[in-house]
Amino acid sequence: DHDLRDADPEIATAVTAELRRQQRTLGMIASENLAPRAVLQAQGSVLTNKYAEGYPGRRYYGGCEHVDTIERLAIERARLLFGAAYANVQPHSGSQANAAVMTALLTPGDAILGLDLAHGGHLTHGMRVNFSGRLYRAVGYRVDPETFLIDMDEVDRLARAHRPKLIVAGWSAYPRVLDFAKFRRIADGVGAYLLVDMAHFAGLVAAGLHPNPVPHAHVVTLTTHKTLGGPRGGAILSADTELARRLDSAVFPGQQGGPLEHAIAAKAVAFRIAAGDEFRDQQRRALRGARIVAERLAATDVRDAGIRVVSGGTDVHLVLVDLRQAELDGAQAERLLQEVGITVNRNAVPFDPRPPMVTSGLRIGTSGLATRGFDEHDFVEVADIIATAMTAPEAGEALRARVDRLAERRPVYGGQLS
Ligand code: PLP
Repeated sequence: DHDLRDADPEIATAVTAELRRQQRTLGMIASENLAPRAVLQAQGSVLTNKYAEGYPGRRYYGGCEHVDTIERLAIERARLLFGAAYANVQPHSGSQANAAVMTALLTPGDAILGLDLAHGGHLTHGMRVNFSGRLYRAVGYRVDPETFLIDMDEVDRLARAHRPKLIVAGWSAYPRVLDFAKFRRIADGVGAYLLVDMAHFAGLVAAGLHPNPVPHAHVVTLTTHKTLGGPRGGAILSADTELARRLDSAVFPGQQGGPLEHAIAAKAVAFRIAAGDEFRDQQRRALRGARIVAERLAATDVRDAGIRVVSGGTDVHLVLVDLRQAELDGAQAERLLQEVGITVNRNAVPFDPRPPMVTSGLRIGTSGLATRGFDEHDFVEVADIIATAMTAPEAGEALRARVDRLAERRPVYGGQLS
């Protein structure tokens, strides 16, 4: 029985180095967060050892009494948190959750209608080389070139023209709230199912700070590791139980074998935490932080460099920076921020003329910093560092010192992990 340090010093060293990286930099990748220690403990537990194919009370293995308790709690908490009648907490990831929903509701060759990847959609919403684009006839809707808001008239038009069996509403890089009721009306008009993929905004919904798609959609999928701040994983919800059997059997045995009960325990912990006041305050700070960043990037020094904010602002935990008119491209901007200690990702913006490895955009998220305790005052400082790094790169060293000060003032895990 070995400790990690003894069993595998190379991996142990790399894990510690990763903790140091997280401590010393400001993580602003919009799909990332910092899972609470309780979540890490549940994930690193003896539940790793257990096989539990099936569902609570209906397993194909013995010795499942305790994992049944755990999975039932996870299901119950997910239902309560999001106001759903049905929850499946087994999907290993958001992609697996979407694959299971499509398996349950579609036949290969059916049409699906989702947000174009280049306009903020996800790979699993119909990208050409993804399973969703290979198995199904994928059609993409886009944003309006003036407002950068999803063009709902086009969604309606494409739905009528292509008669999709499934419409997907949800995004990986879109800074605004969606009109779920309108999506549902369009879906009903053509006899399509509506899937809302709230992978990114599930935490905001849990905190009551974003409209809840559950009452509007036939099915809702989510990831548990983005704004929700739990373990890496996925889940499926529905407002009623009509599709329960089909969805359950599409996850297991349709898509997956044994559920990851250690991850499910960690999801249960995350759902419990997400029902609390501290979590709501954290989500509120994430939203406030994103607005502060968007406002700072609208100031004249930034605008003079040709830099814009997609859609002129944000309703959520992320800001999309538009560099189409700037000399700076997405790859360079990502590197400039990396050099001062802020981690973000370059991201294509709609109508992006630059190639996908370069891009004309940056996606900046505030969830991780909000979890770390960043308040309005801290976000004002972060926003100014970002703006200055992109407009006055010669300030790099001074900016790095400002990042160091913030990182020390707001330690990851309160400095309790070493
Ligand atoms: N759906 C959306 C909208 C996402 O943004 C993501 C992740 O980026 C996923 C699904 C997939 O999640 P995972 O990476 O867990 O497969």
